[in-house]
Amino acid sequence: MSDTKPKKPEHGSLSIHTDNIFPIIKKWLYSEHDIFLRELVSNAVDATSKRKAAQPKHADDEFKVVVKLDKDARTISVSDSGIGMTGDEIKKYINQIAFSGAEEFVSKFKDRQASIIGHFGLGFYSSFMVAEKVTIDSLSYKPGAKAALWECDGTTEYTLGRGERTEVGTTVTVHINKENEQYLDESKLREMLERYCNFMPYPIELSGNVINQTEALWLRHPKDVTDDEYKQFYKDMFHEWEEPLFWIHLNVDFPFNLKGILYFPRLRNELDYHRGSVKLYCNNVFVADNLKEFVPEFLLLLRGGIDVPDISLNVSRSFLQQDAQVRKISKYIIKKVADRLNELFREDRKRFEELWDDIQQFIKFGVITNEDFFEAMKDILVFKTSKDEWVTLEEYKERNPQTAEKPAEDDKDGLTTHKIYYSPGEDTQVTYLKLMSDQGIEVIYTTSAIDTHLFQNLESKLPFTRFVRIDSEVLDGIVNTDKKELVDADDKTESDKVKAVFERALDNEQITVEPKSLKTPEIPAMVVFNEHMRRFQEMSHLMPGGDKMDMPANHTLVVNTENASVKKALRLDAAGSAENADILCRYLHQLALLEQKAFDGQQLQAFIANANRILGML
Ligand code: ADP
Repeated sequence: MSDTKPKKPEHGSLSIHTDNIFPIIKKWLYSEHDIFLRELVSNAVDATSKRKAAQPKHADDEFKVVVKLDKDARTISVSDSGIGMTGDEIKKYINQIAFSGAEEFVSKFKDRQASIIGHFGLGFYSSFMVAEKVTIDSLSYKPGAKAALWECDGTTEYTLGRGERTEVGTTVTVHINKENEQYLDESKLREMLERYCNFMPYPIELSGNVINQTEALWLRHPKDVTDDEYKQFYKDMFHEWEEPLFWIHLNVDFPFNLKGILYFPRLRNELDYHRGSVKLYCNNVFVADNLKEFVPEFLLLLRGGIDVPDISLNVSRSFLQQDAQVRKISKYIIKKVADRLNELFREDRKRFEELWDDIQQFIKFGVITNEDFFEAMKDILVFKTSKDEWVTLEEYKERNPQTAEKPAEDDKDGLTTHKIYYSPGEDTQVTYLKLMSDQGIEVIYTTSAIDTHLFQNLESKLPFTRFVRIDSEVLDGIVNTDKKELVDADDKTESDKVKAVFERALDNEQITVEPKSLKTPEIPAMVVFNEHMRRFQEMSHLMPGGDKMDMPANHTLVVNTENASVKKALRLDAAGSAENADILCRYLHQLALLEQKAFDGQQLQAFIANANRILGML
């Protein structure tokens, strides 16, 4: 040992663009201070892997990364037994950080993708976000190397001298500054380590406890993973007791590297969107939750993790080319999800239908908001019909040819618009449903408030498909079209009289009375809502609390001139009992309304009063 007495520490200035680093750190990474720990631990893990590669005789279990909190000294240290650095290497790797890309990065991403920036670190220098001083004590694995100690207080001055480490590896000590005292708290550090370091390949220890326990299951080949392992991993990762519905294992090496698992959670109700969470990792290092740039919004209803090693965590590496890459990745994920759903549909349609209730919100939201997803999914959207069977839109059209409109005479292409009839379900609109089934027409049931949006959206993308709620028109097939009406001495038809009597009784300009001769005499009257007006109203009510919408006040009352009660109202009127005729007309209107929706208190009171008057007349 020729050199036993420590040399005087060397003083120097950090070189190359260093003037730029600290403002960038302070300005752009301001909101994401937590990542400093991730950066230090990742460096420690990298150094460990490098040592493993350089000296393969070391077993994996000899390595760990130790994080220590010293509240009195106000420090956090991260120690590894990685390859370490010599003094020269510290100069090379730490001092001369190639920051030429930093300025460019900031100017390019300043406005557009500020949300991304915060998630990526500036590597080792991130620690200056929270530190008044940082020291590196390192002993290189190289034979004969001496420990080196580097110190810097966040200015462009540093010192480099003899370190204290006796074992190969590096200890980085962060002296926490006043503004960031919250980091001098063990549970805070634990939470950060759990979030960022859960899948790192070596044990990460804090106060003697290993924090990271889980192997990132997506790194294994899908063939080697059992269903139970997928389920357990889900439960561990999301602290969840309920099993996922199913999952998609993403595993691709080309044209980019991506591994991940996306789980479909059981959504407890429509607005249970917050249950989703897709975590993005880069080489096992957590980057961010729900980063919209990678995972389109509708997929955020899912849960899982995606590891994209090609995404650099570090702005000093070339981040600039990654814009296009990010878009490609996002497209790929959408395609994989759609492929998996199509596969399930083809291979196990029954299971697909069973799952539909739980996954439909997500699928519909995706179809509405994403063109690629729409294209991939449009043929496997399914609906339950009034025959208690599931159909796709094409199947509906095939099974119900009579709902196709004949092309107009002058329409050379002869393209037909196909109507798809729908209804909120078998517990309402019963008369309409019966009329439809009498005509042999199936009706699809809507299940959620998003359906109105979906239909509107599908109509714009599938121009020959039209969705018609069964109460928005009177089917041609149920009207006696050939009936000739006679005029009486006052030059009035029966229809004219019905219209006049009902209009007087209802006394409401928002209601249009439309007398019609229906083939089913038992039906006195039907309420008809204009499809477009109703949709508009529904959509403006959709968020939040969607399904509590009211019926539009504007509607048409179709009155069946063949019905005995309607005829009775006319007779009462003709016999001079206008008051009783009015009571009967209002009652028939109320009955028609009742089919659409339960009455509120006031409406119910009026209805009961009317019913009692009619009983009194009998
Ligand atoms: P990056 O990790 O992106 O290269 P950093 O600024 O975090 O950028 O680190 C710069 C370099 O310093 C690393 O590439 C590595 O060579 C070296 N380094 C940092 N931390 C350690 C460590 N704990 N052990 C060994 N080398 C390290």
